[in-house]
Amino acid sequence: MGNTLKATPAEVVLETRDLVRHFQGKRRHFLGRKTTIRAVDGVSFTLHQGETLGLVGESGCGKSTVGKVILNILQPTSGRVFYRGRDISALKAAAEPSLHREMQMIFQDPLGALDPRMRVGDQICEPHAIFRIGTEKDRKQAACEMLDLMGLKAHIYTRYPHELSGGQQQRVVIARALILRPKVVVCDEPISALDVSIKAQVINLLSKLQDMLGVAYLFISHDLSAVRHICSRIAVMYLGQVVEMAERTDLFSTPLHPYSKALISAVPVPDPSVRRNRIILTGEPPSPIDPPSGCRFHTRCPIAQPVCSEVVPSLRTFGNGHTVLCHFPGEA
Ligand code: SF4
Repeated sequence: MGNTLKATPAEVVLETRDLVRHFQGKRRHFLGRKTTIRAVDGVSFTLHQGETLGLVGESGCGKSTVGKVILNILQPTSGRVFYRGRDISALKAAAEPSLHREMQMIFQDPLGALDPRMRVGDQICEPHAIFRIGTEKDRKQAACEMLDLMGLKAHIYTRYPHELSGGQQQRVVIARALILRPKVVVCDEPISALDVSIKAQVINLLSKLQDMLGVAYLFISHDLSAVRHICSRIAVMYLGQVVEMAERTDLFSTPLHPYSKALISAVPVPDPSVRRNRIILTGEPPSPIDPPSGCRFHTRCPIAQPVCSEVVPSLRTFGNGHTVLCHFPGEA
C-alpha cells in the first residue's frame, strides 16, 4: 500500500502584515514641521513553528525595530502583527503577560541584558518566579537543568555576570529567554558582540535548542555567514523594506535583487581557490527621513534605469516563495 500521508505544514506562529513604524524626528528649522523617520515601511513575512527566519541588512535598515514592534516594545504606526492567528499589534504589553511567556528576545549585548547585582542562577529563575511557576526548589532545579543544557558548569549558578566570559554571559541570556519554553524568540544580533570562536558555539547551541524545543527564531543579523548557517529562510532589508525573501539555498545560489547580490558577494569564502567578483556598493545608505523616490535602492544600484527613480517597484513572486522588490530582478 502506498504511503498516502502528507507532511503537515508547520503552524504559522508569527505573521507581520504591512508593518510600519515611523518615529518623529527633530524640526529642520525653528518654524518647520518635525521630520518623520521611516524606520520600517511595509514589512510582511511569516514565521513557522521550529523555523529560523533571518532578517539581514546594513545597520539602520530597520531590522531591530521590526523585532521590537513584534515584541510590543514599540507600537506599530500601522500594519498588523499576528501571533498564532491572533492580532497582537494593538495590545498593551503590560496587559498581556502571557505573551511574555510565549515570545522572548535575546539581545546583542549580553552584559547589558543581565542585572550586574544579581547572581546568574537567580536571573535564570526569575521568569519562573514572575509567573509563579513551581516552588523555589523547583525553580532552582529548572535553572540548574538550563545551565546544564547550555553546557555551563553548575558553579556558575552563584556567580555574577561580570565574572563570566562573553560567551558564558550570552549562554545565560539564552537560558533565561528559553526557560519558559517560548514559541518565538527574536534574536537581535545575538553573536555580533562575541569572539569568532564563540560565535560558532552559540549558533550551534541555538540550533540544538531549536531541535529540542521546537522554538521559532527571528534571527536579526548583518552577518550573512552566520545567517547562512542557522536560517532556513532569509529576508533582506533595505531602508525599512524587505527587498528580497527566499529559502536560504535559493537566496545564496540565485539572488535576484542587486542589493542581495552585493551582500552575498561580500561573504568570505573559506576556499582560497574560489574567486568571487565582489560587488562594491558606492555611497552611503540614504536617510530614512527622506528616502529616495521610486526604488529606494536606485541611488546605489549598479544597474539602475531611469524608471527606477520614478516608479516604485511592485513585489514579484518566483517559484518556492522567492519574492523580490525590483523592476529588473536577476539582471546583471
Ligand atoms: Fe536597481 Fe532598479 Fe531594481 Fe531598484 S528597481 S534594485 S534601482 S534595478
